[in-house]
Amino acid sequence: MEFDERATRELVEAITQTVFEHADELTDLDRAIGDADHGINMDRGFKAVVKNIDAISSKPLGPALAEIGKVLIFNVGGASGPLFGKLFATVGQQLSDGDALSHQRIVAACDEALRVVKTLGKSDVGQKTMLDVVVPVVDELRADSDRSVLRRLQERAQTAAQATVPMIAIRGRASFLGERSRGHMDPGARSSQLIVDAICGYLERRL
Ligand code: ADP
Ligand code: MG
Repeated sequence: MEFDERATRELVEAITQTVFEHADELTDLDRAIGDADHGINMDRGFKAVVKNIDAISSKPLGPALAEIGKVLIFNVGGASGPLFGKLFATVGQQLSDGDALSHQRIVAACDEALRVVKTLGKSDVGQKTMLDVVVPVVDELRADSDRSVLRRLQERAQTAAQATVPMIAIRGRASFLGERSRGHMDPGARSSQLIVDAICGYLERRL
């Protein structure tokens, strides 16, 4: 599909809407194993994205994602701000050279973004973080470029977020709880799942 100004705007709106709708839930998850601010942080960051939506959606998709990343880095705060921000910013930068989008290029951009986030967070899968959703989703995408992959990405994200419940946190504030971090979904894993769900849901409707 052609990512024109309208499509970029609608995609961004799909993401911001789900974050706003679930902000209280995200904060409640963070109350259980963190400091009760993840929904507040994400809500603040994506409100700033909405404020800049005209400038963002007037850019091609790559630069638009890079700009979203920048806005998130400056506005989300917490541990998650730089991590989510860098994720968007790196994918966007990787897709900013004006070349046509392809499955291979999108996977490569996601891989680079994951490398950057893992380095920044000194983290990897299995530590009860956002990475426990984003990494398996990118692996699923790598394996398949068919349109039907969108539905599977949504399912994979949901299963992956659920799989953080029995994990013990090794990174982030939740790691201070040790064994007591078990039994709760990681807030960043849930917000990652919501964002994946919104992106894939939008693309399913449009493609
Ligand atoms: P803070 O922990 O500073 O209050 P948030 O509550 O907004 O920030 O975000 C917490 C989420 O950030 C966690 O649920 C986790 O998914 C993610 N996170 C925290 N630290 C890391 C890290 N080092 N690597 C990857 N993700 C992390
Ligand atoms: Mg928090």
